[in-house]
Amino acid sequence: MEPVDVLIVGGGLIGLSLGAALADSDLRVVILDHGSKPEVDPPGPKHRDGLVLQSSIRPRVSAIAKSQWTFLTRIGARLSAPSYSRMEVWDGEGTGTVSFSAEDLGEAELGYIVENDRLCATLIDQLHTKGTVTVLWDAPLVEIKKVDDGYVIDTENGKWHTTLLVGADGGRSQVRKMANLSTVSWSYDQHGVVAAVETEKSHGGAARQWFTSGGIVAFLPLADSHLCSIVLSCENAEAILAMDESEVAELLYDLTEGELGKIVAVDQRLAFPLIQQHSFRYVRQNLALIGDAAHTIHPLAGQGANIGLADAEALSLVLKQARLEGRSTGDIQLLNSFQRARRSDNVMTAALMEVFFRGFASQNPAVRWLRNKSMNVVNDSGFLKTLVTRYATLR
Ligand SMILES: Cc1cc2nc3c(=O)[nH]c(=O)nc-3n(C[C@H](O)[C@H](O)[C@H](O)COP(=O)(O)OP(=O)(O)OC[C@H]3O[C@@H](n4cnc5c(N)ncnc54)[C@H](O)[C@@H]3O)c2cc1C
Repeated sequence: MEPVDVLIVGGGLIGLSLGAALADSDLRVVILDHGSKPEVDPPGPKHRDGLVLQSSIRPRVSAIAKSQWTFLTRIGARLSAPSYSRMEVWDGEGTGTVSFSAEDLGEAELGYIVENDRLCATLIDQLHTKGTVTVLWDAPLVEIKKVDDGYVIDTENGKWHTTLLVGADGGRSQVRKMANLSTVSWSYDQHGVVAAVETEKSHGGAARQWFTSGGIVAFLPLADSHLCSIVLSCENAEAILAMDESEVAELLYDLTEGELGKIVAVDQRLAFPLIQQHSFRYVRQNLALIGDAAHTIHPLAGQGANIGLADAEALSLVLKQARLEGRSTGDIQLLNSFQRARRSDNVMTAALMEVFFRGFASQNPAVRWLRNKSMNVVNDSGFLKTLVTRYATLR
């Protein structure tokens, strides 16, 4: 049985980022994933057959804030991704509108739009090049056993003793369940429908979002100025998946009030259930949770991966510090300091998503009046606008 200092269950965006952040330390690190290594086609030209778009764009795309982009660059992610310099938000049920721009902050951009699989692929390449972190795919867990000084992890591909077990295994985390870490959670009774779409007008480097009675729809700008990745959070995902392309194009045109002109083509659609879930504790002796394993939030402000990346960065810092001080990576005081560093920010972000979601879902005329008023007040106030933009992008 091989002894390691950190064993990460989950080779998604957040587990790989933690692995990459630790690749230069002399900690012995293993990442295990029960799924297959993500394969991505080289970016290629789009093809179109009428309204059907066939692009090499992966359906899962994330808006990554500038601060997290800086972290990803520092840990070696080599990815050229389109940036966005403006964000425009509309209340489709009223007159409220807010626009945020990088210029207001004296920055060139607010963040970047990345295809999750492509970002994972560059992190995998980086780990492979450095050769200091072992990454195993198709490695289902057979058993996780608590022992005095850590955990014994048994898989079909090998057995390890680790002083720190990290659950980066997503919203349904087996590590979290095994450790009996309880959560508060509820479903939004919505799915996020994602797809790449081609638009008649250029997106001009702006991310756009509409809050409407038919759902919340975000258009994230891609490298081609007429391509966007959309997320439509709605209650009728099944019906939308069953529609033909022309019906989806028409629906998106209506929801966006034609802001980007006609929807010229629609690529493959996928739907993900949306839940709010937060683990009361992220740590136990010899164990920590990061990313969606610790918290999942509504994607309406594109913050889920961002707060997960901030977890990975914070945990990597305390683990490197532990190494310098000759402490065990499973030390509960150390892990508590990671939890203290991240929990309040994550809870605050989750609470804000809830306020936005409930506020925009409400059909109560008083609430509708208040939200339109609030959006316009934020839009007209340089100070409030800067505060919100900084919170969303640069914290
Ligand atoms: C529609 C939608 C749009 C979003 N848009 C944005 C956005 O714009 N910006 C943003 O910041 N966030 C966004 N998010 C959130 C973001 O996608 C997630 O927060 C992020 O992908 C979570 O990454 P993760 O690595 O924690 O989990 P996951 O991506 O779920 O990865 C978990 C990994 O663990 C592996 N695994 C699971 N169980 C086991 C097991 N038992 N053994 C071994 N391996 C296991 C899985 O195979 C997977 O590779 C969005 C989410 C949705 C649903």
